[in-house]
Amino acid sequence: MFDFAKSQAPVYNGLIEKIGTPSKVSISFNDRTQRQHFEIAPCAHRQAIEWLIAKFGELGITATLDGVGHRFVHGGERFKTSTLITPELMTALKACLDLAPLHNPANYEGVELMQKALPQLPQCVVFDTAFHATLPDYAYRYALPEKYYLEHQIRRYGFHGTSHSFIAQKAGQVLAQQSLPSSGLISLHLGNGCSSCAIWDGKSVDTSMGFTPLEGLVMGTRSGDIDPGVCIYLAEKCQMTAQEMSDLLNKKSGLLGVSGVSNDLRTLLEKEQEGHRPSLLALNMFAYKVAQSVGKMMVALARLDAIIFTGGIGENSALMRARIVHHLQCFGLTLDDAANASHGKTADGLIQGPNSRAKILVIPTQEEWLIAQETAKLIGVAQPA
Ligand code: AMP
Repeated sequence: MFDFAKSQAPVYNGLIEKIGTPSKVSISFNDRTQRQHFEIAPCAHRQAIEWLIAKFGELGITATLDGVGHRFVHGGERFKTSTLITPELMTALKACLDLAPLHNPANYEGVELMQKALPQLPQCVVFDTAFHATLPDYAYRYALPEKYYLEHQIRRYGFHGTSHSFIAQKAGQVLAQQSLPSSGLISLHLGNGCSSCAIWDGKSVDTSMGFTPLEGLVMGTRSGDIDPGVCIYLAEKCQMTAQEMSDLLNKKSGLLGVSGVSNDLRTLLEKEQEGHRPSLLALNMFAYKVAQSVGKMMVALARLDAIIFTGGIGENSALMRARIVHHLQCFGLTLDDAANASHGKTADGLIQGPNSRAKILVIPTQEEWLIAQETAKLIGVAQPA
């Protein structure tokens, strides 16, 4: 929750985790002075949102709200900008549910519940795919017969749009303050989900994720790119069903699958220290694929001005950033070890070495702020100066 006119720092923020699992649902709820933690009985999204609405009532803040912004993962071909919610829009959103079966139904339920709970407020949806609506057709089409695009909307959409969009905005500001150019950027969102994005003059021109958030980089539990022939082989030789394949590629692969121990980078760095070879391999694969993706994204840009690291890994792991940039020596990209070790905090986020051919930055992502900005624009709340 933001007091939009006053500050980019949230008044309240929180996280509700383990929804829909057998475990207790874990809730962190913070104001500017203290962090509170709650646990409630295992529950679905409905009860989690009801908890949140009750908390707002208890704090007496419901009446102070001007609007609600929702993140919606997949807007398909239909939604290329953030949109105010109307009954017609709800019907159109329902038609997008199948595009992202792991995410969109939960997003939709959230919108429905918030509308029921706070019917007096305008509400908006901000699509994760929308920032990538500017990709050229040769970047977003797959080399499949056109009918699969026309009849089934099979194309590359890209995700993490709210994060890459925030990074484009923020990196532009940081570089402009130092009179540095900022037309050509590569944003690397490295968290449990990972994607890269080539940005030219503030617009996405290519990205690593595709029809689903499975394409591209090695992620916490997702495989990223693999030869589709592997799926054909597994279907034929192991009689694997589509559901089993989806579980394998989305939930059992990536860092978790290769290491056999964890999807969490911190755990793998510890295991590596103990000499655990599968963890070393997982980390090496992760770094190599990110660096490869930087090469791919460069092709979409007329010039590279800066690379930006963000997300839980990108913001916090100096070791992983160093491993990635090590593969980029052929492009003349280097790090300043001390600036990297302090996550750029001593130099406005800048961590490149003195002779690096492009700037390298660490910028914490703030997707919620981007959603708040989009919502404020749509409902007519004044932007901060
Ligand atoms: P996210 O999905 O953006 O929350 O990122 C989650 C990932 O960030 C996990 O792999 C974490 O291990 C990693 N991460 C978070 N904090 C740190 C840290 N201090 N050092 C290394 N990795 C971290």
